[in-house]
Amino acid sequence: MKVVKTIKEVREQVNAWRKEGLTVGLVPTMGYLHEGHQSLIRKSVEQNDRTVVSVFVNPIQFGPNEDLEAYPRDLNRDMQAVEEAGGNLIFNPEPSEMYPSHFTSFIDTTETTELLCGAVRPIHFRGVCTVVGKLFNIVKPDRAYFGQKDAQQLATIRRFVRDLDFDIEIVPCPIIREEDGLAKSSRNTYLNPAERQAALILSKSLKLGQQAIDAGERNAETIINIIKTNLKTEPLARVDYVEVVDFANIQRVEKIEGETLVAIAVYIGKTRLIDNFIWK
Ligand code: AMP
Repeated sequence: MKVVKTIKEVREQVNAWRKEGLTVGLVPTMGYLHEGHQSLIRKSVEQNDRTVVSVFVNPIQFGPNEDLEAYPRDLNRDMQAVEEAGGNLIFNPEPSEMYPSHFTSFIDTTETTELLCGAVRPIHFRGVCTVVGKLFNIVKPDRAYFGQKDAQQLATIRRFVRDLDFDIEIVPCPIIREEDGLAKSSRNTYLNPAERQAALILSKSLKLGQQAIDAGERNAETIINIIKTNLKTEPLARVDYVEVVDFANIQRVEKIEGETLVAIAVYIGKTRLIDNFIWK
């Protein structure tokens, strides 16, 4: 397993693999890897001859008052995690490698980024799509792997890959959770013990919503109310949003019929956590 810092080194390595006729999978991450990321790497290792993992805390997807500086970073730990999961190459560029001076071109999306995190983090998806588009052009993978944990991101990447004709298969991967139900996230490290306990309210509230749909409830507003009411029972929790949307377009639905995304964002203390489920 190798770590490289430059676009040139990635291209040289991938070209060498291509000459041998090998297929390549890409797993884009911001590092501080956990079992959620490792599940994506393992899936890629299963489906491709070689797997590239990018570890890059992408500055252009963070708003001015967000946690860019505080975001946890530990390359040695990440190297172990990638090695363990069978990845072959880590691409860990400096911001200046990805964004030289006078960087002024962006991938912008509409529709799928209007609501949920797009509504409260205005520049976020432009940053995500731009860095993912760059990584696609740098690595030119056959397949790329994304977690359903970031369901709006997954829907948005699927959309721009289709719209802009990237010849890459997008492979969705299920949410990996802690034993008690909390979705794994690099940001969980921000939680103190009391907050860690309080954070269980996210998965518990979603479960109540899911149970109601399973029992036959189809009214989106009713599901939103069930989830919100339960979230409000936790004093350390502050609701950012609770939304019911169609998964393909990320637009609100009144009635739950097709593939539906039920997504929430909740502050636990100062830490903003997201979670969701997809109902088919
Ligand atoms: P991040 O490092 O948070 O940008 O995440 C990199 C990739 O890992 C994204 O595609 C995420 O959706 C995915 N991911 C993060 N946490 C999880 C999780 N708990 N389960 C599955 N995938 C995850």
